[in-house]
Amino acid sequence: MPNPVKRGRPTVEEVLQVGRSTVGDVLQIGRNTVEEVLHVGRSTVEEVIQVGRNTVESARQLRQGTMQAAVLHGRQDIRIEDVPVPRAAHGELIVRVGAALTCGTDLKVFRRGYHARMIVPPALFGHELAGTVVEAGEGVEGFANGARVVALNSAPCGQCYFCKRGQENLCDDLLFNNGAYAEFIRIPARIVSKNTLIVPDDVPLEHAALTEPLACAVHGFLDSNPHPDDTVAVIGGGPLGLMMVHVAALSGCRVIAIVKHDGQVEAAKQLGAAHIIKTPSIQKAIRETRALTHNNRGVDIAIEAVGVPEAWEEAVEMVRKGGTVNFFGGCAVGTHVKLDTNRIHYSDITLRATFHHTPAICRKALDLIASGRFQAGAFITGHAHLYELNRVFEKLMNRSTEIKTAIVP
Ligand SMILES: [Zn+2]
Ligand SMILES: [Zn+2]
Repeated sequence: MPNPVKRGRPTVEEVLQVGRSTVGDVLQIGRNTVEEVLHVGRSTVEEVIQVGRNTVESARQLRQGTMQAAVLHGRQDIRIEDVPVPRAAHGELIVRVGAALTCGTDLKVFRRGYHARMIVPPALFGHELAGTVVEAGEGVEGFANGARVVALNSAPCGQCYFCKRGQENLCDDLLFNNGAYAEFIRIPARIVSKNTLIVPDDVPLEHAALTEPLACAVHGFLDSNPHPDDTVAVIGGGPLGLMMVHVAALSGCRVIAIVKHDGQVEAAKQLGAAHIIKTPSIQKAIRETRALTHNNRGVDIAIEAVGVPEAWEEAVEMVRKGGTVNFFGGCAVGTHVKLDTNRIHYSDITLRATFHHTPAICRKALDLIASGRFQAGAFITGHAHLYELNRVFEKLMNRSTEIKTAIVP
């Protein structure tokens, strides 16, 4: 007969051991949970304090009637000034800006001191924003005070030849709105009714503010006749080029990113580019891009996102027979390109040039941001106060690794 005492001892020790580990586990889990709760609690309290502070400030300012805003006076001349807080007329909204993002277009405006279609100084500017409604004009439906919204930079008329054909991006009477680099912004009635969207609770305002540029990228991509598994070359590693890289990669395409700067290499990789070609040489970019395709045949889709004639010509040279080129980057007025007519005709190449966005595409863009698949955070590489706007643009002019800076007024 086996000795019951001997058999009993290991069992007791085992039980003790298991008990000890279990207690240890529970303690550890308990500790983590408590820490998590503390952390969540702390963030929530901080958020509430912040929101409360903004609300109180908004109320005070609305009463006083003045706000701080960036006013563009000319070339590289931004001044932060006290200007009247706008009031909402019929159908309009006043939005407290939660975040306004810098953009290539604003940088151009800063450098040149004007924008032919949109801005004549002295003028408020900035157009990528999301914020909170603080005043709704008479007749506004669907946007109460406190609603978190993203208001697009434009809205089509809905009446003209182009709008009626579903080409609202080409509207004869496209209404633009500027003035996002300010504490408050007035949203015109037409933008309120056609192009102002509620931001889902779990989407940060600065992410929602990416809706406008993303809408341009989604529009350009969908216009390029894409199929999953297509090989897509994107020329240009600026904010919109990188957005195009990300949109194409999320759609299941194999993306070749052609960039000029080191910082853009990392970003393109993170956003889903399968191959990155870093070179200032157009000939080398064409050669290396073709080498990444079967028998050097060229890519299915080439998207130009720089906005210079040489890059337009480069895009045509890297696409395959039957492929599509999208001249997505707008060039300076009066520039021209030289294209090989033989190649375009006998290789059956489709040339497209997508401009701007439509209300339907803007909704798609916000949905993509809200889906969580789109890495919104990767595009916002810095935060700054309104007072720092001059410095932010100067830094962007010097081709830093910054993609977009969120201006928090
Ligand atoms: Zn923009
Ligand atoms: Zn129209």
